[in-house]
Amino acid sequence: MARVFNFAAGPSALPESVLAECAAEMLDYHGCGMSVLEMSHRSSSYQQIFDDAEATLRRIANIPSNYRVLFLQGGATLQFAGIPMNLMVSGRAGYLVTGNFAAKAEREARKYGEVDVLATSEYTGFDRIPEVAGVGELAEATGYDYVYICQNNTIFGTQYHELPQTGEVPLVSDVSSCFLAEPIDVTRYGLVYAGAQKNAGCAGVTVVIVRDDLIENGPALPCCPTYLDYREQAEKGSMLNTPNTFGIYLCGKVYHWIEAAGGLAAMERMNREKSGLIYDYLDQSHLFHGHAQPASRSIANVTFRTGDERLDAAFVDGATQRGLVGVKGHRLVGGMRASVYNAVPIEGVRALVDYMAEFEDEHTK
Ligand SMILES: *Cc1c(COP(=O)(O)O)cnc(C)c1O
Repeated sequence: MARVFNFAAGPSALPESVLAECAAEMLDYHGCGMSVLEMSHRSSSYQQIFDDAEATLRRIANIPSNYRVLFLQGGATLQFAGIPMNLMVSGRAGYLVTGNFAAKAEREARKYGEVDVLATSEYTGFDRIPEVAGVGELAEATGYDYVYICQNNTIFGTQYHELPQTGEVPLVSDVSSCFLAEPIDVTRYGLVYAGAQKNAGCAGVTVVIVRDDLIENGPALPCCPTYLDYREQAEKGSMLNTPNTFGIYLCGKVYHWIEAAGGLAAMERMNREKSGLIYDYLDQSHLFHGHAQPASRSIANVTFRTGDERLDAAFVDGATQRGLVGVKGHRLVGGMRASVYNAVPIEGVRALVDYMAEFEDEHTK
């Protein structure tokens, strides 16, 4: 068995021990005589798996009891619609556009209400988080139902290091690529959500964490599909219909792995160390340049390029040959992207930086 170092942005690396546990339990889960894949979601064995996943997530992310946790399907993308349909009570929201996924969410929300773009970094190639001072006063004065951000911009490699103050207006955040990468203060948000395949599980599970009072009256828009009705999903324990049973089981194992490794503070330390190794290299390199402005750098996705597309392609090929896979950048940015999520070991990052140095040496003579 030869496992590679996987820097893919999502689906992405999972802890080897989690995969091994899933494999060991595949044919017979704890003496049930069947796989989790074959289990009724209404069975008590499965309910235990589900409850344990939620309880573990609540512990590691310190989620207060007045927040509901939903395990949904449809990716982060479905929530681009679910959020306005549930929360646009007065029909108006403010969006901060910091990349492709924020722009998609903003465009989707326009189908359901009035949307104001409060700030964007589009004109500098989404290389930074824009200035957000004053957003709170504006949001309160306008009476927005919520202010929306994408906290870590997976494609561009930027991240909010301070959340915008939104006063009484709920902050809604897409944390898909930074969820469980560092401690999170859930009380800062009205709703926070993440597709699990980036840093916290596998594709097909989206975790939505939402404050009780925002959903107690049901969806703002009567056209909201039952599946996206957060109140209904909360009342039915995310089992309004068949959930992604295996995906939630796997997410639960990832949560346990994080807890055993020291929790979110330990994840943050490791992720800062890993991303820092690459950023330190970039800061002194004469060949590679980072895409993100230093103050906006992501601890999860590191974007860089040489400025020469052929060299970028040669770098990606050479990396793949060395078992460093998934470093090709997204087509919107080009160049390279190393996603150094929780399950990517520091040895992989060291190997990548060594290869960058070797490549630079070879191509700057
Ligand atoms: C990947 C990603 C999405 C889209 O997720 P899907 O699960 O493919 O719908 C949205 N937002 C962010 C920040 C992402 O990284």
